[in-house]
Amino acid sequence: MLIDTHCHMNILVRNFDNKEPFKEFNTQEIELMEKIIFDAEKQLVTQIINVGTDYTESYACIEIAKIFSNCFAAIGLHPNDITDTWQNDILNFRQLLLKTQENKIVGIGECGIDKHYPNYDLKQQQEVFHAQIQLALEHNLAIIVHSRDADEETYNVISQYYGEKNFRGTIHCFSSNEKYAQKYIDLGFVLGFGGTITYPKNEILRSVAKMIPLEKIILETDAPFLSPQIVRGSKNNPTNIKIIAEYIAKLRQEDFKNVMQTTTKTTKNLFGIL
Ligand SMILES: [Zn+2]
Repeated sequence: MLIDTHCHMNILVRNFDNKEPFKEFNTQEIELMEKIIFDAEKQLVTQIINVGTDYTESYACIEIAKIFSNCFAAIGLHPNDITDTWQNDILNFRQLLLKTQENKIVGIGECGIDKHYPNYDLKQQQEVFHAQIQLALEHNLAIIVHSRDADEETYNVISQYYGEKNFRGTIHCFSSNEKYAQKYIDLGFVLGFGGTITYPKNEILRSVAKMIPLEKIILETDAPFLSPQIVRGSKNNPTNIKIIAEYIAKLRQEDFKNVMQTTTKTTKNLFGIL
């Protein structure tokens, strides 16, 4: 079996861009999710972690986890979604974490640093990142780190917690070089690989995925974004985890079964899922 460790199934069935408050999914949306999960299972993808980017989407991820036994939720505030009321969001996350088990929360994220778009507020991003790492430590949860054009800044935050009890996580959609791969691994982190590893220009990423121990790799789609090259242009979905696993197996000249079993084991250990 395979696990999609980073999916946005809520966005696969509904447009969350309008920032309307979310209450529940309608029948049509639930049927669509049922189909997505059914198709994924046919491709050996038996578990899915849906990841929030703000309070509303995090709450939606929890709702999905409550409906489907093989889905789990991560809650967090993405660096690009920070508003001046972010402290409120953290308080709301605290409420959701009072029922970590019942809400099937297995991680905190996406959280991190993003310097890709102009006019980012680095100081605020760092502050919000620290606040979310605290939540993870307090509730013994993994962090799901989003880092874009911010290797040094992300590493500087994370490395401050090295050695702390419960501190662990994944660098989601890893997109840096061998040097940072090693630095993150030395902190005990694992690296998330998805569709981007199949893109022609990403030779560096492929060399990283070849070099690091298989035990340090987990698989993710980031669906509906970042479809693998052979299905690029179409909406990504959890089914494509198999394409990524096969690609990595071929790249590393390993048995597909070994890639499947090892990434699944690493994922289960990291997120504490059975
Ligand atoms: Zn994502």
